[in-house]
Amino acid sequence: MSIQSKKSTDKKVKATKKSIPAFEWKYAPAPESTDHIDIKPQYELFIGGKFVKPATSEYFETTNPANNKVLSSIAKAGASDVDKAVKAARKAYAQSWQKMPARERGKYLYRIARLIQERAREFAVIETLDGGKPIRESRDIDIPLAANHFFYYAGWADKLPYAFPNRKPMPLGVAGQIIPWNFPLLMAAWKIAPALATGNTVVLKPAETTPLTALKLAELIQEAGLPEGVVNVVTGFGDTGAALVNHASVDKIAFTGSTPVGKYIQKAIAGTGKKVTLELGGKAANIIFDDAPIDQAVEGIVNGIFFNQGHVCCAGSRLFVQENIASTVIAKLKRRMKTLVVGDPMDKNTDIGAINSAAQLKKIQHYIQLGQQEGAEIYQTDQALPDKGLFCKPTLFLGTSQSHRIVQEEIFGPVLTIQTFRTIEEVIEKANNIPYGLSAGVWTDKGSKIFNLSNRLRAGVVWANTYNKFDPASPFGGYKESGFGREGGLHGLYPYVQFEH
Ligand code: ADP
Repeated sequence: MSIQSKKSTDKKVKATKKSIPAFEWKYAPAPESTDHIDIKPQYELFIGGKFVKPATSEYFETTNPANNKVLSSIAKAGASDVDKAVKAARKAYAQSWQKMPARERGKYLYRIARLIQERAREFAVIETLDGGKPIRESRDIDIPLAANHFFYYAGWADKLPYAFPNRKPMPLGVAGQIIPWNFPLLMAAWKIAPALATGNTVVLKPAETTPLTALKLAELIQEAGLPEGVVNVVTGFGDTGAALVNHASVDKIAFTGSTPVGKYIQKAIAGTGKKVTLELGGKAANIIFDDAPIDQAVEGIVNGIFFNQGHVCCAGSRLFVQENIASTVIAKLKRRMKTLVVGDPMDKNTDIGAINSAAQLKKIQHYIQLGQQEGAEIYQTDQALPDKGLFCKPTLFLGTSQSHRIVQEEIFGPVLTIQTFRTIEEVIEKANNIPYGLSAGVWTDKGSKIFNLSNRLRAGVVWANTYNKFDPASPFGGYKESGFGREGGLHGLYPYVQFEH
């Protein structure tokens, strides 16, 4: 069913404007300082507790997507470097980490958590410079959550018998962990903390566009005095990741990234006996019923898709609004979009920062064009984008239907499609009718509706009257092409243990 005509929407916008004055606030610049951070001109690989030059002798640049300035030169790990890292992890597993009393392992994790907290500001600034996300987000979400993840799994380290009563959990060995660029430090924490808590050692491969906070974490791990080789960091591109996936001495692969690479990994390890967890793409439905608190829901829509530039696999990129409130929600949403500040990610007022890479911006622009070719009605605000850097306006598509590619495919940018619905059955059918199943949102006053939908939506996480809320104690993961396995909570321990038969 399509949204009402453009004319009637505009009429409603005017009606809303009458009762609520539009915001015209201008904020003075409030840039976060970079005085307190230390980014070296060149970073090596972190293997066996030391920073070592790559056998390839090759380096690549990591840049700030907000101004295209080079931040640092990063070592590119080849297959022999990956082999060295896996051997270091194997040695550490056999000689120290596996044998260490669990409560001692826990102490190291607590130490890492505390050190992240101590350096939170530095980590936040580097995350924003390297990845383009607003400083408010890295400061208030990424870094505190990363520290909390280490705290949470530190707590489990010596309590595993309680997590798995009457069974004897044992570590797997060496975990190869490959992470994406949207939450660089947080994804490293999601991967490393449960692996170490359960007695495994790690080789981590950060994303090529955001390696800096993982390398800062390596420095911190060195300072925390972890036994050499317990955590290794190999930087590079897809081929570095592939070398890790295909290494014979890796016992488990944990991957977060795109669905095509996830499928490649599954094929590559078929028949090898390696364990695997995959957290892949998403195309979440955010569903607003007519009994929902509309202003809060609008804020939830904005938080779900526009903050962090839509660089979130669980982004609420498909909005479903009950037909009788559609014009009100759309008017309020357009009005709120006009107040979103797009620009310098280091400015504390910024809502939408830089797109992570030129390739990603091109992909988003391709989908924005495609949406128009498919006949959807586009809405963007008229605020100007910065001249330099990689930026994209928050974009709304009205008049979309299930068959549109912009509704079916993951865009990974600040692009929202809107569809209307009349009944619960209809919206469940539409929400589930895509290849992904990572997350969803439901906005309603009625608890029974929330229980009904959270049972029937095929999504790993269903948020009710909120969106994009994370807690280390709560498991996260998908269905269908969004992958399998859970990270976070008690469930997050399972992928890293085996049991005696
Ligand atoms: P995104 O679209 O989010 O960049 P990717 O799946 O391309 O997702 O990247 C996620 C991570 O996977 C990155 O660290 C990337 O270098 C790595 N990667 C890319 N291709 C491969 C591959 N063939 N094997 C293993 N890792 C890969």
